[in-house]
Amino acid sequence: MGWAKGNDHRAEIPAAAEAQARLALIHAQAEVVRLREREELFNLLLGGVNAVLWAFDWRAQRVVYVSPAYERIFGRSAALLLADFAEWRNAIYPDDLEYAQQTMLDALDQGAVETREYRIIRGDGQLRWLSDKCFVGRQPENGQGPLLVGIAEDITDKKRMEGELHRLATTDVLTESSNRRHFFECAQREFDRAKLYAAPMAFLLLDIDDFKRINDTHGHHVGDLVLQQIARCGASVLRRGDLFGRIGGEEFAVLLPGCVPELADQIAKRLQREIQRLSFQTAVSHFGVTASFGLTSLRASDATLHEMFARADAAMYRAKRLGKNQVVVG
Ligand code: GH3
Ligand code: MG
Ligand code: MG
Repeated sequence: MGWAKGNDHRAEIPAAAEAQARLALIHAQAEVVRLREREELFNLLLGGVNAVLWAFDWRAQRVVYVSPAYERIFGRSAALLLADFAEWRNAIYPDDLEYAQQTMLDALDQGAVETREYRIIRGDGQLRWLSDKCFVGRQPENGQGPLLVGIAEDITDKKRMEGELHRLATTDVLTESSNRRHFFECAQREFDRAKLYAAPMAFLLLDIDDFKRINDTHGHHVGDLVLQQIARCGASVLRRGDLFGRIGGEEFAVLLPGCVPELADQIAKRLQREIQRLSFQTAVSHFGVTASFGLTSLRASDATLHEMFARADAAMYRAKRLGKNQVVVG
């Protein structure tokens, strides 16, 4: 009986353990389901955000997490990125790669970098602008390296809008050349640089001859076409780094950095010839156009840009008085 009792007791232990194990399994399965549901919810939420959340193991040089938006914004495979960090480097626009890498090091140094903006090339070749906040999510501990985490937002539309606003604020709508304010802002910068390095520089002003008569004879619309063609001449004659702007109704200004007086004179005369070669055809007649030019070069005594401008202006008026359609050096 003692044996029997003992046997019964021994049989109860595995039965209890088995029940406990079964319960633990049920709990574990429920936990897996719960975690899966949470992950699905998490992915759903992150997928709706137009930004990529990412985590990067610095020591392993491995991306350990990217949110679902990565594939949409980058147009590239997340699996490839998780397998090889080189995929991230491939995605950065080459001119911005050094900056993107340096700012990651800065974040590691300083704990965070609030905004870094760089361009990426999507898998389909499209260019996108990203604004990426980046910070150290886990300091090195227990043999693990630091974990950098970030949120990269697609700001392409914002950038495009900023560019368009800048264009509207700096260009003259009719001729698409720089407007007066932008021309003088840029010219001031060039003037300061030329003074600093004692570099040569020339300033050229041009005013269309008898423009009022063109308007009166052919109409304001034709006058507008003349202004557009003259701006095009300016663009065709100038070198890289030269500035061209419409600074008044029918008055344009040219700044020639690094240009010695002889070359400036050649450029002014070339522009004069190009303008003279323009021909305008209306329903009833055709006509040409000329302009008067005032040219001056930077002098050591020039303390302000305005002094150059005033000299070029006076030279231009002398060109008018001397019969128009000519370059006068002042
Ligand atoms: P000058 O040879 O002495 O320079 O004579 P001008 O007729 O060119 O000079 P004036 O200053 O008498 O006239 C300039 C004209 O330019 C008057 C103005 O109506 C015209 N104008 C200014 N802005 C525009 C514009 O945006 N479009 C057109 N079509 N005409 C303009
Ligand atoms: Mg004028
Ligand atoms: Mg005029």
